Amino acid sequence: MPNAPRTCLAALLKAYREPLAVEEVPLPQEIEPGAMLVKNDASSICGSDMHAWENPPPASMGIAVALPVVPGHEMMGRIADLGTVRHDSLGRPLKEGDRIIWSPGVCGRCFWCTVARRPSLCPNRRYFGVSSVRDYPHVTGAFAEYTYVFPGCGLVKVPDAVKDHWASAASCALRSVVHAFERLGTLREPEIVAVQGAGPIGLFSVAMAARSGAAQVIAIGAPADRLEVARKWGADYTISIDVPHPQRVEQVKELTGGLGADVVIEGSGASTAFIEGVELVRRGGRYLVIGQVGPGSVNFLPANVVGKELDIIGSLSGNVSDYYKALCFLDNNRERFDFDAMFPNRYKLRDIHCAFVAMHELRDIKPVITYGT
Ligand SMILES: [Zn+2]
Ligand SMILES: [Zn+2]
Repeated sequence: MPNAPRTCLAALLKAYREPLAVEEVPLPQEIEPGAMLVKNDASSICGSDMHAWENPPPASMGIAVALPVVPGHEMMGRIADLGTVRHDSLGRPLKEGDRIIWSPGVCGRCFWCTVARRPSLCPNRRYFGVSSVRDYPHVTGAFAEYTYVFPGCGLVKVPDAVKDHWASAASCALRSVVHAFERLGTLREPEIVAVQGAGPIGLFSVAMAARSGAAQVIAIGAPADRLEVARKWGADYTISIDVPHPQRVEQVKELTGGLGADVVIEGSGASTAFIEGVELVRRGGRYLVIGQVGPGSVNFLPANVVGKELDIIGSLSGNVSDYYKALCFLDNNRERFDFDAMFPNRYKLRDIHCAFVAMHELRDIKPVITYGT
């Protein structure tokens, strides 16, 4: 890589629950065939980054983290070194300077890639922000000036009208919701959708449910300013989690003729929300679970699944097609939804700990890290 910088500024997770350290770290001086180096314009903090900051991922995720690591997996950047890559995953030509988002690399030669056709479950998936910064290619996470894009990653060019920070959020939060809606299948008129959580997953779920033909959308969450965004993004009713649990369930029952919601979407990440979601969904309904990536466990009565004939649908991450559709959703609905309402604040990389604290304390919906002067 001619004239390539040898180092860049990055945030490092050195020990769980300790503030990220912002330091100069090495950049890869060799780009493998099929890999790229991207200079980030925007990175955003995902709810799962909060879990990843506090604890190693649960064993069920199949992800091994090697500290110290550049964490984070939501980012949008411009191609700094194209390597041998010439096209994105849709065959569109790429050049250095193009804006891009990318999916984890999958192997394309395992049972889940080829037979089950569920690449989001590929056990050989190469995740971002999990390998040690000491090891080549050093910068694989989002919270750095540059990020290395592995060979085999899905690559999607960002449409001009999609802002940097929107595209960054599309690279996890929104693509996860797009993938979950693919797992859910069609909303059938006149289905009522209840969404648990008013963070990024919950709010994007509200917007997508509203655009996917839900007869009514009920958003359950907090704080009040997020519920206000939910109403602007298509929620017909909002219920604060300050309302105690039995009354919340009763309110949903009242709004659904005593039945419960046809579809409930779990986007809160709180393990206790799972129990409540099973109460909120009507008999014979569908429960779409997206946010449960933390280590919390709950007491659950499996007879409820049988007694209500529930379809419980888990959804993990997304495939490159979901990244593309997420960008299309932003592009096609930019006049309809004020997407900027999700991103009230910008932070410099050096202030990333403030951004984490602001998200943890629910003062910020989705903090955005920006680079440059
Ligand atoms: Zn994420
Ligand atoms: Zn595979």
